[in-house]
Parts: sequence; C-alpha cells; structure tokens
Amino acid sequence: DMPHIHIDSRVEIARLLAELLGSGQVQSHVGGQLMAGDGEMLALTDPATGKVFAEFPDAGQAVVDTAADVAETAQRQWWAKTASERGRIMIEIGRQIRAHAKPLARLEAISSGRPIRDTGGEPARMAEMFEYYAGWCDKIAGDVIPVPSSHLNYTRHEPIGVVTQITPWNAPLFTCCWQVAPAICAGNAVLLKPSELTPLTSLVIAALCEKAGVPAGLVNVIAGRGPTAGQKMIGHPATGLVVFVGSAQGGAAIAAAAARRLIPSVLELGGKSANIVFADADIDRAVVGAQAAIFAACGQSCVAGSRLLVHRSIHAEMVEKLAGAAARIPVGMPLDPATQIGPVNNARQWDKVDSMVRTASGEGAQIVTGGAKPQTLTGSGGYFYAPTVLDGVVPDMEIAREEVFGPVLSVLSFEDEDEAVALANATPYGLAGAAWTRDVGRAHRMAARVRAGTFWINSYKTINVMSPFGGFGQSGYGRSSGREALAAYTATKSVWVETADDPAIGFGYAPGR
Ligand code: NAD
Repeated sequence: DMPHIHIDSRVEIARLLAELLGSGQVQSHVGGQLMAGDGEMLALTDPATGKVFAEFPDAGQAVVDTAADVAETAQRQWWAKTASERGRIMIEIGRQIRAHAKPLARLEAISSGRPIRDTGGEPARMAEMFEYYAGWCDKIAGDVIPVPSSHLNYTRHEPIGVVTQITPWNAPLFTCCWQVAPAICAGNAVLLKPSELTPLTSLVIAALCEKAGVPAGLVNVIAGRGPTAGQKMIGHPATGLVVFVGSAQGGAAIAAAAARRLIPSVLELGGKSANIVFADADIDRAVVGAQAAIFAACGQSCVAGSRLLVHRSIHAEMVEKLAGAAARIPVGMPLDPATQIGPVNNARQWDKVDSMVRTASGEGAQIVTGGAKPQTLTGSGGYFYAPTVLDGVVPDMEIAREEVFGPVLSVLSFEDEDEAVALANATPYGLAGAAWTRDVGRAHRMAARVRAGTFWINSYKTINVMSPFGGFGQSGYGRSSGREALAAYTATKSVWVETADDPAIGFGYAPGR
C-alpha cells in the first residue's frame, strides 16, 4: 500500500491549509483576513473514508455585513486602476495558481473526492481562466452609435459593483475560478459562497488573488450554508447580481430571492443530457465517449451524458461493450494515481443515487452492471458507488427524467433521427448533448435540433474558458465563459452629448437634427 494513498485526512488537510493559507482554521476569508462565523457548527467529511476532518461555524450576518463593506471599498480601488494594470494582476493570479498547483490539486482531491488524475491538471486550467480574462480587461470597450442627430452617443460597460456567487460541491475549484475571473475582469468585487461541504479550495483562491495584488476585499469567500449565509448575501443591499451554480431546486430559491431585491441572476443548473449514438458511428469510440460522459467525476457533473440513446440495430452491442468497460474502470481512493472514479461526494448524495437506481429497477429497468457499492470497497466507510448501466429504460421512468448526479447511465433505444430528437428533447432541462455519427449532414442537423446550451459531435465533455457555456430551459439562463460571460457582469450606460453650436430645444424624446 502506498503511504500517500492511505492518509489521515484530518492531518493532511491541516498541513495543506497551513501551507496554502497560513492557518489550519476553516473560516471565511473577508477583506484579506480570516473571520470566524457565529452560526451552528458544520462538519467537513472526507468522502473516501466517511470521517470528519474539520469543523467550522456557519457564517452569520456579521461576516456577510463585513464582507459587503470591504467589497464596496475594494471595488472602487480596483476600478480606479487602469485596465492594463487589472490585466497584469490577473496574469499574476494565474502564475500564483500555477506555483501552488500541487497542494491545490491535492486539497481539491481530498475534500471533493475527485481523483487526483482529474484534479492534478485542474490548477493549470484555472490559471488559464484568469489569463484568458486578463486579456479582456483592456478590451471591454463601448461603441459610438450613429444616432440621427447632432448628438454624440456612446456606450460604457460599467461594473455591477458587488456580485454574489454561490457554487456547488461537485467541482468547487473549477466553479470558483470560472465565476471569479470574469467578475473581476469586468471590474466587480465578489462575495463567493462555496458549498458548505467543499469550501477549502475557494478559500485558497481568495488568498492567491491577494498575493497577486488584488485589493484585499475584492474577492471574499464566505464559509457557510445556503439558506443562511447564502440568503443573507443575496439580501444584502450591496449585492447587485447573483450568479448561481447548482441544482434546479436551489436555482429557484436563488431567483426568488433575487426577484425580491429586483436584482438580476445568472443560473447554471443541472441537466439530463442525451448522448445519441447512430448506427453509422465509430462504435468503439462512442463506447469510450459514453463512459467519459457519465462516469467522469463519478457522474457528478452538470453536463453528464446520463441518457444514452442508441439506435435499435446497435443497442445490444453497445450495452455489452459498455457494461464490460464499466466493470473494469478502477474505482478507489482519490489520491491513488490509478483511480479513475472516486467516491460520491457525500452520504446524502450516495443515498439519492442508490434510491434512484432502486426505483428504476422497480419500474422495470435492468441493472446490467453496478447498482451498489463496489465489492472491493464494501469494507470502506467511503461513499463509493460502482459504475452502473441500466438497460431497458423508457421515457416515463423517473430515471429517464430526473438528474441522478451519480455514476448511473440509462440506456434507451430509438428507431430513426426524428425519434432520437424527440427523446433528447423530452426533458425540461437543456444543458448539453452529443451525437455520434459519420454522416456530416446528420451531425449538423442534430446540433441544430437538440435543445441544449452545449452540443458535441463525436466527442463529449470538452469545454474551454474561451467558449460560452450555459443552459436552455430549466438548465438555467445567462452564459458563463467566453466573451458572453462579461455581459452579465457589466451594465451598459448610454451617454448623450449635444455637439451642436446652437441646438434646437424640443420637448420630445426624439433628438433634434
Ligand atoms: P445545490 O443547489 O444544493 O447547492 C448549490 C449551492 O447553493 C451551495 O453552495 C448551497 O449551499 C447553496 N444553496 C442551496 N440552497 C440555497 C438557498 N435556498 N439559498 C441560497 N443558497 C442555497 O447544488 P449541489 O447539490 O451543491 O450541486 C449539484 C448541482 O449543481 C447539480 O444539479 C448539478 O447539475 C449542478 N451544477 C451545475 C453546473 C452548471 O454549470 N450548469 C455546474 C456544476 C454543478
């Protein structure tokens, strides 16, 4: 047994936090300092052992008020810098993340349960997010509009001010950097609340931002629960926008709270994405793609290809190949470099996954492989779940309609292209989808006909900070990544300047000529 695989996570997490934060304490990061909450005690659990490794009090009103205060001041300091200066500091954030990549990746793996194979490369991707938006800092420019008058009319894209961001537990480091980078690029300050289950790597990002030179208070991370700290953040008068990444149910609570304050929201929610395999596809590549689509991150991915739609003529072959492959994927400890699938993040999620599999089986789906804790890990206290393939799923089963957020693939059959499209679109969600085919025309027809914010052809799961990302339908609204993300983080101001020497005075809205 390799010693770094069987670690005492309480000791290791304390060591990593001391190295990365200069303190082993889990507290909110507010105005460049750690600040303890005054709410009920919350526990952090190692998903791979089920053991508690840290505890911290929920952030209360005092933490939120202080954070909002320092954020307003820091935002004014940040916006007073030149655009190039902001860009240079954001490049330096990228450099700081790269310089701390190893302990950061390890912290993310232990606290979220994602394998080091995945998280190992993640800091470099996070650095790229800050570097990409560093390049936008001095390119956010307005337009001169050719209005029919003697006026000069131009636009300015101004920061919202203070933005509240609330993120989930499945990819805490990713979702933090993904939203912080465009927010500060556009000149805003941030109050970010990671999931109360996985706050650690976001706290590190806040510290690294300050090391890179952002004003203390520009990026604040609040360690606390949604209905308490999260709601207080949205309710604070300083918050001008709320960006939420999480479940559809959570999204509805956020949108309602934002509506009460008449502030806009961006919602990045869940999905029930269809991965569609036609008979003319490269079957072996489609089998690999289908595994990556559903089993990566133990299925805890918003874009997971949780519904595999297969043409009837290749259904049996696909299911057999997939079941064989699924049973061979190494499931194990997150820090083991051989592990491809780690544990489910938490006990509540494990129970949800297992109960949805039981319900599907009760409704007539066949468990081809998986459907329980892997046999090799039954003695472990970790929340492991074997990669699961369910065959014979039909559209009215719960498993075909609701997000599982676990390593569970539902296989459905279709007869022709129209039926594939109808099945793919038979969900209120619309986050992602894919089609596997060698027919170029069909590939683009599918891309046009499936309602989803992201669509892959002969691929799955590739995303990049340069490309817009977001949902259709109940997968949310607004776009993250790419130039489009900047739209939500700015407000456009239209400025009118009379240039005529002797302007006509009128009382209407139409400018005089
Ligand atoms: P969740 O909705 O339970 O929680 C997300 C965040 O919202 C957490 O920080 C939580 O504390 C907070 N929260 C919950 N209820 C709240 C309330 N009433 N008021 C304020 N804040 C509240 O989601 P989760 O279980 O942490 O994450 C899994 C979900 O996230 C899945 O549905 C997944 O698809 C989705 N997700 C979506 C994307 C995307 O980009 N579309 C990315 C990752 C995850």
